[in-house]
Amino acid sequence: MDWQDSLEQAQFRTEVAEFIQTRLPDRYRSGDDNNDETQTTGWQADRKSNDASAKESAINWADALAEKGWIAPHWPKEYGGAGLSVMEQFIYNQEMAKADAPPVGGMGVSLLGPTMIVHGSEEQKAEHLPKILSGEVAWAQGYSEPSSGSDLASLQTRATRDGDDFVINGQKIWTSGAQYADWLFALVRTDPEAPKHRGISFLVMDITTPGLTVRPIVDMGWQEPFNETFFEDVRVSTSNIVGEENRGWYVGMTLLDFERSGISGAIEYERTIKELLKYVNSESESDTKVRDDFESIRHQIADRYLEVNVLFNFAFRIVSMQNSGMVPNYEASVNKMFGSETHQRLARTGTKVFGLYSNLWSEDSEYSPMRSSFTRDYVRSVPHTIFSGSSEIQRNVIATRGLGLPRG
Ligand SMILES: Cc1cc2nc3c(=O)[nH]c(=O)nc-3n(C[C@H](O)[C@H](O)[C@H](O)COP(=O)(O)OP(=O)(O)OC[C@H]3O[C@@H](n4cnc5c(N)ncnc54)[C@H](O)[C@@H]3O)c2cc1C
Repeated sequence: MDWQDSLEQAQFRTEVAEFIQTRLPDRYRSGDDNNDETQTTGWQADRKSNDASAKESAINWADALAEKGWIAPHWPKEYGGAGLSVMEQFIYNQEMAKADAPPVGGMGVSLLGPTMIVHGSEEQKAEHLPKILSGEVAWAQGYSEPSSGSDLASLQTRATRDGDDFVINGQKIWTSGAQYADWLFALVRTDPEAPKHRGISFLVMDITTPGLTVRPIVDMGWQEPFNETFFEDVRVSTSNIVGEENRGWYVGMTLLDFERSGISGAIEYERTIKELLKYVNSESESDTKVRDDFESIRHQIADRYLEVNVLFNFAFRIVSMQNSGMVPNYEASVNKMFGSETHQRLARTGTKVFGLYSNLWSEDSEYSPMRSSFTRDYVRSVPHTIFSGSSEIQRNVIATRGLGLPRG
């Protein structure tokens, strides 16, 4: 593992940092909730916002990144990506996270595009990829159903052939950002008689197709990050299938070989700890919201500091594996699980620092320390150990693939 940038890497780092410094719209310089992991607030919501200045910021940022080919840094150049190496992506992601700059393109960039590059027809690529790269079209992912989450292959939403169309009936749930999306990619059952992994197809559809209804779900943090998505006789052309019919499970599991270190989480949590320390150290004794018996939780802050440093090292380990041509396996599970659980522990520790003041939800109250950011994060980090594979599923992977333990 090489901890130092090479000369070229240092130059690239400067280029990215200067670009962000000059082109990031002011709206995204506040560092407030832009870098949401589900990518459903921040940029994707802004581009559909009724607030003209939010919309303008989203468009300007997408245009700036598009000029550099940095909306999809990991896509191959022939498809309009930047074709960055794993180390360049790592540096790019580090600099974006340091500035708390929002990623652009959401699931179109991270999931649909890579899947289409590998499995899509030339017509599909020509139609969809440029619109993702310009920030013109945003996508949502319709995989989970009310009874199919961790065991996704049990999904029941049915697509029946009728001439040149599929007719879709069923329901998806937790569809992040569907209320701001233009298109949906979904896994649907096309052969109910086949073994469960072999009767699924991967379909793309305009989210305004008649019969398709998106209903936002309010979470306990008073946000609407996801939706219920209902299908009632939704007609989609058979040409909208990506890959082969009934092979959609394997299509849906495709990802391009992009950087998976999770470095942005480690950088964000480090920044949070620094802000907490700054607050604690600058409060005057007569006007402090830090609890009286602060010494009792000093050790917890030290623990969080250690954990964030461990997370950094996990990130470096993964990116160095990828850089030497290895594919992270259970290591990615270690990273996801440890990162999301560190996030929750950090939020909990932050709320403890402020004792009863942490009961305040309001950001604007003079009594809310640090704009209630820890209270809000305490509530809003709950889903992080559920999406993208729950902590229990990650532990299963670590136990079986990592430690060679027998399956339960
Ligand atoms: C914020 C957020 C955004 C999301 N966005 C999307 C999206 O855009 N599109 C989409 O399709 N889905 C999305 N999801 C859904 C997500 O993928 C599922 O919530 C996740 O796969 C878990 O499925 P489930 O909720 O049905 O829980 P279940 O799978 O029913 O799990 C319930 C509990 O049982 C545990 N469990 C399940 N199986 C096992 C096992 N084998 N061993 C041990 N424990 C087990 C789980 O860990 C969990 O604690 C999102 C979820 C969240 C929270």
